[in-house]
Amino acid sequence: MMIRNQLVLSVRNLTKSYRSAGEHIAVLRGVDLSVAAGERVALTGESGSGKSTLLHLIAGLDRPDGGEILVADTPISGLSDAGLAALRRDRLGLVFQQFNLIPSLNVRDNLAFQSRIAGRHDAKWFVELVERLGLGGLLDRYPEQLSGGQQQRVAIGRALQARPSLLLADEPTGNLDSRTSIEVMGIFQRLNTEQQLTIVLVTHEADIAEYATRIIGFRDGRVRLDHAVAKRRFAADELAKFEAELEERSA
Ligand code: ADP
Ligand code: MG
Repeated sequence: MMIRNQLVLSVRNLTKSYRSAGEHIAVLRGVDLSVAAGERVALTGESGSGKSTLLHLIAGLDRPDGGEILVADTPISGLSDAGLAALRRDRLGLVFQQFNLIPSLNVRDNLAFQSRIAGRHDAKWFVELVERLGLGGLLDRYPEQLSGGQQQRVAIGRALQARPSLLLADEPTGNLDSRTSIEVMGIFQRLNTEQQLTIVLVTHEADIAEYATRIIGFRDGRVRLDHAVAKRRFAADELAKFEAELEERSA
C-alpha cells in the first residue's frame, strides 16, 4: 500500500509585506506550519500580527512574496487565478467574522449557492447539514430576519456544502455574544469530531482558542508557539456553566 501524506496544509517559509503610505511593512517573516487531517487548530496572535493575511494567502485570495503553501499535496504557487478559484470551490470552506450572506437570497438558496455553481450540489448532504446546524426552521427566511448566530450557522453550512477538506475560519465569533460564540464553537467541535473535518480557526480571544486541540501563536510575523491545548474547553460544558451562572444571578 502506498503511504499517503496526511498533511492537509503545509506552509513553508512564507513571507508577505505590504507597502502603505510609502512604508514597507513586513507582515509575515517566514511562517512555517503544517496541519494534519482531522486537526482542530486555533491560530492566535494580537491584532495586526498577520493572522488574516496568512488565511488569505492559504485561501489563494492573495499571493505571497516568497515561500510555499501546499493544500494536501498541491503547491498553490503553481496555480493560475482560475486554479485558485477551483481550489477554493472544491477543497476549502471559508467562514468570516462578517457572515457575508447574500441579502436577496433566502437561507436555502444561500446555503446552496456555491455548490450549485460548482455543480457539486449533493441533496442528501444538504439535508444532513441543515439538520446538524439546526437550520430546518429557517430555510425560507432572509439574512436580515436572522440573528448573528443564525447567520453564522448559515455561513458555516454554506462553507461545508462541497465537503471541503479544510475549513478556514477568520474570527468567526468576532461579531457574536459570548453565549452564541460558545454555540458556534460547539458546532466546530462536533464537525471536527464527528466528520473528521480539519479546521484552522483564527482568533485573538484566548478562551475561544481553548476550544481547539492545538494552538499556534503568532508574533511579529513568525510562529512563536505551537502546542496542544492542555485545558481544553468543551462547548457543552461551557454552555451548562453559562446557564448555571445565569440562574445564580437571577436567584
Ligand atoms: P490580524 O488579522 O492578525 O489582525 P492582518 O493580517 O489583518 O492582522 O494585518 C497585519 C498587518 O498588515 C497590519 O499591520 C495591517 O495593517 C497590514 N495589512 C493587512 N492587509 C493590508 C493591505 N491590503 N495593505 C496594506 N497593509 C495591510
Ligand atoms: Mg484579522
